[in-house]
Amino acid sequence: MRIASLSLGFALGAGLLVPDYAHAQTPQRTIALDARLAGDANRTRLIVDLNKKIDVRAYTIADPNRVIVDLPELSFDLPVGAGKQPRGLIAAFRYGQFAPGKARIVIDLREPVKIEKTFVLAAVDDQPARLVIDLVRTDAASFLKNALVPERQQTLAPKAQPKQQVTDARPLIVIDPGHGGPDTGAVAKTGDEEKEVVLEVAKMLRDQLVRTGRYRVVMTRDDDTFVPLDERVTIARTNKAALFISIHADSLSKGAGEASGATIYTLSERASDSEAQRLADKENDADKLAGYLSRQPDDVANILFDLAQRETKNHSALFARTLAGSLKNAARLHKSPLRSAGFVVLKSPDVPSVLLELGYLSSPDDLKQMTSEAWREKVTVSVVEAIDKFFAGRTPAIAGR
Ligand SMILES: [Zn+2]
Repeated sequence: MRIASLSLGFALGAGLLVPDYAHAQTPQRTIALDARLAGDANRTRLIVDLNKKIDVRAYTIADPNRVIVDLPELSFDLPVGAGKQPRGLIAAFRYGQFAPGKARIVIDLREPVKIEKTFVLAAVDDQPARLVIDLVRTDAASFLKNALVPERQQTLAPKAQPKQQVTDARPLIVIDPGHGGPDTGAVAKTGDEEKEVVLEVAKMLRDQLVRTGRYRVVMTRDDDTFVPLDERVTIARTNKAALFISIHADSLSKGAGEASGATIYTLSERASDSEAQRLADKENDADKLAGYLSRQPDDVANILFDLAQRETKNHSALFARTLAGSLKNAARLHKSPLRSAGFVVLKSPDVPSVLLELGYLSSPDDLKQMTSEAWREKVTVSVVEAIDKFFAGRTPAIAGR
């Protein structure tokens, strides 16, 4: 990687000048200068010229089929009409600021695709930096199977990408660290933010689960990124998750008492108590806080209490009890640790889902624990233990291992 710029070749502000791309890159804002499509109906490439190299994340989402390209904050200075003309596999693409600090390109697809490559070339001589996304045609089943698994180009060696294991029967667990990006979640008096605390714990849990070799794990986010609530649900459903665990660490408003300890929430139409209701309201507002206009989750809400969902509810409740049983050996539990409310993020009708509140950021004792490496280790070990028990009871094949 090149050391960032020695000098700003000359001022970019004038606009008429051709900027010296190779040497003008450090502190100025990022600009998308041009974008174009190339290729045909089997293989289509999106190229975006940029004034400097950036990190990107591209992944697919089903229903409707799209490719999402997440970018850091940047200004789109694209020619009028860019993205409106279809070509090859791409019907159109849209772009814009997604949230503070974050931009996004959404590619509407004509056919199911696989993202073959995502990379960003640094600027060279008079050539701008380039974001390149290569899409190849695939079948609908493969698209669905891969949809919504974030693909992080920077951490993958180009040829080290493992082939998707079609026959992998291990249960897939979705870990959902709450909040992210512009949505910080609760903030402690010390400045500790819920989004960071829960991400650290979620990553530790992921690593431990992966180490057992018994599970596949998908994270709804593994960095400080905003993920809308309905997308978290979609990630669980599209991946046909066997279990969804949302991790939070909220705070209580003044006057709500001095609650502390861990709580496990499941979904219910009526909240188990007013505090659960208040918490669900707050969590369900996350999208709004992040400046995201969410789709109404009514499609999910409507089938909420269908008979088809009863089994899922039973499994959610079973896992919640199992988790409480394991956790009590590792962490202090809230005085009533099993509660329920209408959390949007728990509304998958077909994926057993729980929301684990590790503790309250408003409680100094809880905060001290949640930011301690030893406590996190103990707690995540006990979550893995609960997951083992849960699947041992349900899947004979897992039990013997
Ligand atoms: Zn939260």
